[in-house]
Amino acid sequence: IHPTAARRPNYLTVQSQNTSYSDEFITSKFVNRGASVNVSNGQFLVTPTAQTYEFQTKRTVSKTGLMMIGMGGNNGSTLCATILANRHNIVWHTKAGVQQPNYIGSVLRASTVRIGTDSVTGQDVHVPVSDVLPMVHPNDLVLGGWDISGASLDKAMERAQVLDYDLQRQVAPYMALLGKPLPSIYYPDFIAANQEARADNLIPGDDKQAHLEHIRADIRKFKEDNQLDRTVIFWTANTERYSDIIAGVNDTADNLLAAIKSSHSEVSPSTLFAVAAILEGEPFVNGAPQNTFVPGVIELAERHQSFIGGDDLKSGQTKLKSVLAEFLVNAGIKPLSIASYNHLGNNDGHNLSAERQFKSKEISKSSVVDDMVNANRLLYKAPAEDVKGAKGEHPDHIVVIKYVPAVGDSKRAIDEYYSEIFCGGRSTINIFNECEDSLLATPLILDLTILTELLTRVKYRGVDKKEFAPLYPVLSLLSYMLKAPLVKPGTEVVNSLNRQRNALEAFLKACIGIEGSSDLLLETRIW
Ligand code: NAD
Repeated sequence: IHPTAARRPNYLTVQSQNTSYSDEFITSKFVNRGASVNVSNGQFLVTPTAQTYEFQTKRTVSKTGLMMIGMGGNNGSTLCATILANRHNIVWHTKAGVQQPNYIGSVLRASTVRIGTDSVTGQDVHVPVSDVLPMVHPNDLVLGGWDISGASLDKAMERAQVLDYDLQRQVAPYMALLGKPLPSIYYPDFIAANQEARADNLIPGDDKQAHLEHIRADIRKFKEDNQLDRTVIFWTANTERYSDIIAGVNDTADNLLAAIKSSHSEVSPSTLFAVAAILEGEPFVNGAPQNTFVPGVIELAERHQSFIGGDDLKSGQTKLKSVLAEFLVNAGIKPLSIASYNHLGNNDGHNLSAERQFKSKEISKSSVVDDMVNANRLLYKAPAEDVKGAKGEHPDHIVVIKYVPAVGDSKRAIDEYYSEIFCGGRSTINIFNECEDSLLATPLILDLTILTELLTRVKYRGVDKKEFAPLYPVLSLLSYMLKAPLVKPGTEVVNSLNRQRNALEAFLKACIGIEGSSDLLLETRIW
């Protein structure tokens, strides 16, 4: 057994004919229950459905590396420093007293799931999410990555101005051991011109095929040097502008590979990293809003059965919005407008102050209420059936982001929800949300990495199939942590935070053969 697997024995055992354990696997039977609806002439004919699947989860966690693109940024350096603080149990002094390192803000390490009721007391029993299935402990992640800035990690942490001085002081020697990030690729057209000054750590040349091979070799070397089973490649670099989707260039896997060969100008650095990860068979997660996953990348991931997930970390304003908008609409209240203002003063804010990079963020933040609105045609008019491409009624929704250096990493988000209530009334909710940006984002990067590793170990099969197959390459189960979730083409995006969490919980439970969350609590409603 790899030492990480032994670090916390998996003490949760399911006793059922649906669940079996071997040294290598947990295998569970799961009935996927739903309903198929026939809509005709305003009538709904509903037929319950049930398909039986088996899940097989490898019990030994992989020795896992995390290679971040943008390792020397605020998120990257904060992630490294906080893992090291946890790993070496560094405590530090703040003006409020002594602070212990922890993983607060991580769904996996700091939240629980209700697993059932105590057979003696009848009380609810909750377990940490990370105990439902064997998962990598964040302290065990092997850290590495690239940055166009050559500052060593201790200096990068200092530059970020995120962590308390006393923690920085103590963790700096460990950070210095991580050294400099690997040189990266820099195509100035994709990020804001104001980033140029930090681009001093570059892979030379402008041949994109050579760049791709360089990145692939970096991944292989990192895996080999650290004897890794799995390496998650994670984009936490600056937000890029959107790439144009051009027929013959990035619309199919083959066209994209050819476009890289001919160094086409519309292939972005993030797309190149995604292609490198896919070709190396390692998962790639995009923590920024740009459209890294052009259609050619998705096709390539399908072809290689390699996992991808994105886009954009959902840390502050959007997380709250996906809760609040759902609360309003599900309460039968009609938001008429949602106006969101942000200002922030870190390097991310500086980059987003450029128009084209802001546009990427605006797009990623804008669709978050769509599914809730579309689900309620009592409040919002449906699109006209006879008008092609017509959109249904929708609240006005704007997003503004401004760069205010003074506030540093402490982003301010101001949101106004203006809604129609009973019989012509109006309600206004104003929210002022102060987020320590990188301290909210870092646990999300950890959760995404650890969940991604887990999902590479889960296979499934229909009852009539002999072989177990890996999950579909686009990991939409990561949606909870992502602002604009990437989903299987042709399927609907779920933005509701509650539904995203329920999906994750239900999936983890399905893998150990427990069905449903049973908030019904029927036993408490009957004699
Ligand atoms: P940052 O500017 O501090 O760090 C980004 C790093 O990426 C910099 O060190 C920069 O030198 C590096 N970089 C830029 N282009 C690169 C390339 N081609 N290759 C390698 N490195 C490159 O930003 P941050 O605050 O750490 O945020 C990182 C990303 O995460 C941003 O895109 C941001 O929009 C996104 N994001 C952050 C949050 C949050 O912090 N709460 C939330 C959602 C999304």
